[in-house]
Amino acid sequence: MYQDLLSQIYHEVKALRLTGQQTAYIPELANIPADKFAIHLSTITGQKYGVGDFDEKFSLQSIAKVFAFSLAYKIKGAGIFNHVGVEPSGDPFNSLVQLEQEQGFPRNPLINAGALAVCDVLINELANPEIELMSFIRQIAGNEKITYNTAVYKSEKSTGFRNRALINLMKSFGRINNDPEEVLDLYFKLCSIEMTTAELSQTFLMYANRGKLPNSNVQILTESQSKRLNAIMQTCGFYDEAGEFTFRVGLPGKSGVGGGIAAIHPGKYAVAVWSPLLNSKGNSIKGMKALELLTTKLGWSIF
Ligand code: GLU
Repeated sequence: MYQDLLSQIYHEVKALRLTGQQTAYIPELANIPADKFAIHLSTITGQKYGVGDFDEKFSLQSIAKVFAFSLAYKIKGAGIFNHVGVEPSGDPFNSLVQLEQEQGFPRNPLINAGALAVCDVLINELANPEIELMSFIRQIAGNEKITYNTAVYKSEKSTGFRNRALINLMKSFGRINNDPEEVLDLYFKLCSIEMTTAELSQTFLMYANRGKLPNSNVQILTESQSKRLNAIMQTCGFYDEAGEFTFRVGLPGKSGVGGGIAAIHPGKYAVAVWSPLLNSKGNSIKGMKALELLTTKLGWSIF
């Protein structure tokens, strides 16, 4: 059933000839062919369905913030909320204005400021933050080969002026413990992690499965943490378009400026889509349309 549905959606979205802009502010991402398009769905019972370029790696960008937050939440429990809030920002992902008004306390872990604060916490807590974060992500992906793309990492590190502004602003309010450059370095590596659409839907299954890895039954997040993290994705996962995504698609998820979106239907499946053309809010145009069609055609809703 899923395979036919995904193929139908893939062709329907392609025929719409939707256009958008590729990420330009990270030079390395501007070179990705604009016509790439993939949909991949994994069920918690182990079935996998894909269409299009689902075996090609792409840059996760902000989607990876979910993994960094998962690890920090696992380590700190509710104490993580002394470092980041749980309110949608209603502002662009890299906005400085709100952060200034709110004394450097980031609204949520899925905007840049919040993910930087989470990286700062990971550096406080872990002896080898990069290695331990990467091995955590490999564990939930069930794939030892997951890594970051060095060219994308360098590209962002050499141009990440706005992220430098965000962390320095937070540091000026006494919210960041470590050297801002060290925190930025971990953050840029996190954002540069790449996966295929198939790997991404597999990795997100944990969030559809109450915090438990579906293959091994290892409980990574508690059920309560998994529920709360899904709530944060639902309300904060799509920049200042979280309302629109909830209205049109109605699933918790997270997008990234690499053109990927991962979303889950709790108890059923995880789905990932990838197309580098973004709308003005930074979300993949074809990706959003594909997910809207998926939930509409399936007729299942979490609401
Ligand atoms: N690495 C990107 C940045 O910090 C992530 C943005 C995104 O995907 O939302 O600007």
